[in-house]
This record gives sequence, structure tokens and C-alpha cells, in this order.
Amino acid sequence: MHKRKESSYRTPQRRVTNANIGNTSLGGRVLPTGYHQIKGKDTTMPEGPEIRQQADRLAKALVGRDVEEMFFAFDELQPYTDDLKGTQVTEVKSHGKALVTTFSNGLSIYSHNQLYGRWYVRKRDSYPKTNRQLRLAIHNQRYSALLYSASDIEVLDEEGISTHPFLQKLGPDLLDESTTEAQVLERYQSKTFRRRGLSGLLLNQHFLAGLGNYLRSEILFVCGVHPSLRPTDCNDEQLEALSHASLALTRQSYETKGITNDLERVAQLKEQGKTRRQYRHYVFGRANKPCYDCDTPIEKHTFSGRRLYLCPTCQPDPKVD
Ligand SMILES: [Zn+2]
Repeated sequence: MHKRKESSYRTPQRRVTNANIGNTSLGGRVLPTGYHQIKGKDTTMPEGPEIRQQADRLAKALVGRDVEEMFFAFDELQPYTDDLKGTQVTEVKSHGKALVTTFSNGLSIYSHNQLYGRWYVRKRDSYPKTNRQLRLAIHNQRYSALLYSASDIEVLDEEGISTHPFLQKLGPDLLDESTTEAQVLERYQSKTFRRRGLSGLLLNQHFLAGLGNYLRSEILFVCGVHPSLRPTDCNDEQLEALSHASLALTRQSYETKGITNDLERVAQLKEQGKTRRQYRHYVFGRANKPCYDCDTPIEKHTFSGRRLYLCPTCQPDPKVD
């Protein structure tokens, strides 16, 4: 992992290592079944909206402040400590589920949290109580940004970022303001994706960057589409609905810190004293609870190795008549 030859000492890495390929959702393949499951438990892996919020928190603590100290746990990255000390962070941006932290000398740190990685922002030199291993720290006068447990960390120059295999293969980013519904529709209709099952596509960062497991259930529900369908099985109206919902729900979730349910309904449920867990989603996590639209009990299934919630009435199974 992160091997560098002595001769390329101080040359920023331009290649992704074996450690990253196949370890990410973008090793050139759709995620194998069960990838996200640890010991049979479905983890709550952050999705695009959560990663973007994390990038915002990091940016708030880091951008425009001088880097006073750096720490890299991996030996091969340690030479960059001196390169980055004394620079300023100019940007922290999420790309799907990866983060790129850019410094004023043109270098960037690429990090992907995979299943375990976790960022903390703390007052300078105060550390959280955790058994996790610190892998990266960026300290300025006021704050320490601390990345624990992640193994997928690289330091890259501009060219390295622009040619990075993970970043290059990402689909249109749903949280990028320039991404349009027409672009998303094009994705659903494309030869590459239209014959693949929606249940896998809606987890695939090649297809659309920023999606994830709760968004998958929510998007399919609001479109009345069963997860076993492929885009090619859907009519134009359904494809347009999927394109709209992919953008709208991901963006709403970012703006509301994770709420995908109808916001008027959320306001009413809040008034009734319901908890966030109760009002957050249309169907995700609501097994056996009545569908908001038709009162049918919501069902929990497994698709592409991960839990998926649906309303059997609003999202009829095409195989059952
Ligand atoms: Zn329903």
C-alpha cells in the first residue's frame, strides 16, 4: 500500500494502488453482493449528502487557515508533512463518497472512507475517545481535522487528481449544482446502464455519484417503481420520475441533513411529537409501518445484498399479478 520508490520520493503519487482498486465501489465493477455488510449487519455507511456535509464541516474548520502541523500514519506519506506545513487549505470537496482536500501549493489529499473511516473536527489538539487508529491529521491554530481508520489516503498533484481512476469513473454528481435532470435521464437511458437492475444501479457510483442505500429505497418508492425492474423495463414517465427523484431527494437530504420524506408531512409529524427517526423517510427503516400513501404495511427485502424497503401496493412487483 502506498509504496513509493526512493527515486520518486517527493513526487506526488499519480497511481491508485492495489489497496484502493477493488476496495472501492469503483473497481470497475458493480459492488459484489454483501460488500456493505459486516458480520451480517447492514452498516449505515454515509451517502452522498452526508459526505458533502462532512466536507462542509471540514471546509469551515480548514479553508483559509494556515496548516501548522500535519500527521500521516502511513510511512510513505510522511514526506508530504513538510510539503504541506505552512500552506493553506483552499478547498474541501466531496466527489461521490470521496473527499479531496486541496492545499495552496497545488497538492491535494484524496481520501475515501470506505466502511470504517471517520472524520472528526475538534479544537486544536483535542482528540476524541476512540479505539480507532488515527491515519491523518491537519492542524491549524484553532482546529484539528482528524481522520480515523481510513486506509485509502493519497497525496496527489493536480494531474494526479484529474487522472485519478476513482474520480474519473464517477457518474454525474447529484450534489453538483451543474448536474441537470436531462443528464441524469441520459444516464438511465444509456446503453451501459439501461439493462442493469435498478436495485444495483442506485448503489453504483459509476452510474450516479452520491447515491446510497437509504436514497435507493426512497427514490424507488416516490416513483412507484419496483426494485427488480431495469431502466429498460420502465416507461418514459417512470424514467423521468426516477431522474427527477434522484436529484431532488439527494439534494433535499443534503439540505435537511438526511430527511427524504415530504417536508410538509415532516412538519405535521413533528407537531405530533414524532421523533426524527419516525418522520425522516417515506419507507426506509419503516418495516411493517403503514405506507403514508395507501396504508399498506411497508416491507423489508434484500436487494443487491443490502436492505431495501418498499410498499407492495405503490411499487407492484411485475412478476406478481
Ligand atoms: Zn403504498
